[in-house]
Amino acid sequence: MPQSMILVVNAGSSSIKFSLFPAGEGGASEGDGIIEGIGVQPQFKAKVAGRTFHDAWPDGKTLGHAHFFGFLLDWLARELPEVRIAAAGHRVVHGGTGFAAPVLVEGNVLAQLERLVPLAPLHQPHNLAAIRALASRAPQVPQVACFDTAFHRSIPARDQLYGLPLHYAEEGLRRYGFHGLSYEYIAGALPGYDAAAARGRTVVAHLGNGASLCALKDGRSQACTMGFSTLDGLIMGTRCGSIDPGVLIYLLQEKGMSAKDLETLLYKQSGLLGLSGVSADMRDLLASERPEAAQAVEMFCDRIAQQIAQLATLLGGLDAVVFTAGIGERSAAIRAAVCRRLAWLGAALDARANDAAEAKIAAAESRLGLWIIPTDEESMIARHTRALLAGGRAAANA
Ligand code: ADP
Repeated sequence: MPQSMILVVNAGSSSIKFSLFPAGEGGASEGDGIIEGIGVQPQFKAKVAGRTFHDAWPDGKTLGHAHFFGFLLDWLARELPEVRIAAAGHRVVHGGTGFAAPVLVEGNVLAQLERLVPLAPLHQPHNLAAIRALASRAPQVPQVACFDTAFHRSIPARDQLYGLPLHYAEEGLRRYGFHGLSYEYIAGALPGYDAAAARGRTVVAHLGNGASLCALKDGRSQACTMGFSTLDGLIMGTRCGSIDPGVLIYLLQEKGMSAKDLETLLYKQSGLLGLSGVSADMRDLLASERPEAAQAVEMFCDRIAQQIAQLATLLGGLDAVVFTAGIGERSAAIRAAVCRRLAWLGAALDARANDAAEAKIAAAESRLGLWIIPTDEESMIARHTRALLAGGRAAANA
């Protein structure tokens, strides 16, 4: 294992994921791990250089993120003494309108990112806590913030607006778009699969627990189905997707819900979980015999196809659809159901290639390119961190 490594960190509300990438060259991850169940029943799993590690805190319900950061750094020093952390790259959900690219965290950057907490109160505080924890333990390690919103700063100004009085947009109520690191990775990889689509009009479907679509023209984001928050657009594991705002007014006024109740309902109890009453996990729904589970899966696919068509209008046509993330990469049934709904747009699936999860899944007669491209947000973060470390942003796009 190389001695000088980049530590990639993705700190969420209940988990801290990390990976290690060589600092010097554009190599693949040398290992990764996760501390999950923070606040419930924390446990640690890691796989580095062929060795696996496991730890658990059966009574660790009250231990917070800072504790586990300390644990992680101690663990790295103890188990991988030969490794020097040359820099850390963090996934940070919100960069607002100000950050259109990753940034070295220095000067007043952290203060600027702190001001964006109200825009992403469920994620941003954890992302920033990770940066702060590392800074206090290892102040000499340069840290880079990579944003889920940055890739979408190319969305035309008019398409960032909601139909609200204009001054609300100036106050920050606008469409930002998310999953940007994933889309940036796919946009970078697409020319290697389909050069014409990469220069043309492509919709990327990032279908994981969180799910969204991105419209790409010539490799640049033109739209994202997630907007001001990560709630909009597709039906997700536990999030509602697009909803009539009148429903929210009704819940507040007639059902006496508080803002907090609404947040819990829309982020944690809705989507596939709320619709099926079975699970937020697509595998469970596909295996279930409950009609509500089948209906939830149909609705998931309906929305994807409908919103792809909406993005095709915005792009003025469509050359290809790319499937990525957990469901997009692994579920042949969901890809097939979406492509059936897009037959009128010229989509024709090669059933054998789809079942085998090959990269190219379009049949010869398909008028649309259809692809599976595995996403890799961590390597995108490592690439950006390496580039900023070398002082040249241009290298990130190489
Ligand atoms: P996250 O958004 O948390 O990064 P992932 O991209 O890992 O999520 O995707 C998680 C989703 O992928 C879950 O809904 C899971 O059920 C689904 N998934 C994983 N493997 C399969 C599979 N073989 N078939 C269907 N769905 C799958």
